[in-house]
Amino acid sequence: MSDKKVTEMRCSFCEKTRAESEKLIAGPEGTFICDECVELCHDILKEGKTQKKTSETVIPNPKDLHKFLNDHVIGQESAKKVMSVAVYNHYKRVVNNIGGKDDEIEKSNVLMLGPSGVGKTLLARKVAEYVDVPFAIADATTLTESGYVGDDVENVITRLLVTADFDVEKAEKGIIYIDEIDKKSRKSENTSITRDVSGEGVQQALLKIIEGTNVRVPPQGGRKHPGQEMIELDTSNILFICGGAFVGLDKMMSKRSQGGSSIGFGSVLADKKTNFDEVEPDDLIKYGLIPELVGRLPVVVGCHDLSKPDLKAIMTDTKNSLIKQTQRLFAMEDIKLEISPEAIDYIVDEAHGKKLGARGLKTMLEKGILETQYELPTYREKGVKQVVISIETMKGGEPLLIYEKASSE
Ligand code: ADP
Repeated sequence: MSDKKVTEMRCSFCEKTRAESEKLIAGPEGTFICDECVELCHDILKEGKTQKKTSETVIPNPKDLHKFLNDHVIGQESAKKVMSVAVYNHYKRVVNNIGGKDDEIEKSNVLMLGPSGVGKTLLARKVAEYVDVPFAIADATTLTESGYVGDDVENVITRLLVTADFDVEKAEKGIIYIDEIDKKSRKSENTSITRDVSGEGVQQALLKIIEGTNVRVPPQGGRKHPGQEMIELDTSNILFICGGAFVGLDKMMSKRSQGGSSIGFGSVLADKKTNFDEVEPDDLIKYGLIPELVGRLPVVVGCHDLSKPDLKAIMTDTKNSLIKQTQRLFAMEDIKLEISPEAIDYIVDEAHGKKLGARGLKTMLEKGILETQYELPTYREKGVKQVVISIETMKGGEPLLIYEKASSE
């Protein structure tokens, strides 16, 4: 190859010469591409891929979603089914872009009622995971009480945008879970329940974002400052799932079912277990939710207290059960963890008694294996291959240690 020919070699895309580019890659029949053009092409392809992913929201099949939820959430049968259908309808609406038109199909935002620690947040999180959309959690009690779209309520949207890596289109199809919505009830004539008088302002602010508005948020989160360029985000396709314990609502419901009057002191609750699935909009309004908000949360479903068998299943049966998680932590030290059935029953009994829902399980387990975890690196150094947690260990005794030699016998 002569020197002249070398200087004539140019990138077939940008025409840079070999001298002007760091690398010039030869193709067939005298074509070349320079390093910069390769990088540019790579960026274009990458961008194309993310854009494709953004617009590709898949409508979940309610049966498949229900099956997925079954793998992760124990009990809460009606909530799982109702959520599967609500989410299916929501994304059918989003994908077909039918919100806000003349023949509008209203959003199926969800209100989940039930005690703490029974899987409400878990359900919302798993749904978002299945549909593969950004997910953010907000605690209604921390939201601003100034009313209207205040800073704090907008921060919920910012959080969603952050989980969507600032991809606005993706965030606009996300899911937001608002916990403790019941703590923002307005004052009502029923004084037997502690109420937050200023809760109505927050409900109004939430109503705006739930029914759909354009929210302007600062590009990298944080606080707004004058002159800053803002990102605008339309909330009308975001699915809102609200949750709350609604303590005392059962009393109102049973009063209703008795025609508004209770016969005799203490007869209100009778023996009948409250079924939150039978909640009517009027009950929620009486409880202190503003009617407009109730109207925007058309799918109402109850979650129930977890029974002992439920708690046991949460310990052992789910795809990412508490025991599997702890076993993984032990496996990182090359030690096998076994928890005896009696120890599991003990944890379940204690957690059930504390009425903390499934949260009590982790607390109890952590307490029982604290010393063992503290000693784990030392056990490993000493050649321990397996640790057995018995009911005695749970009550403060030593775990059973199995050493390498013993296990290989
Ligand atoms: P809630 O939102 O009802 O207060 P969470 O969903 O936050 O309760 O539950 C706390 C944790 O307890 C969850 O992350 C999960 O590990 C476990 N948990 C609670 N309920 C269930 C359930 N029904 N099935 C499986 N795990 C559960």
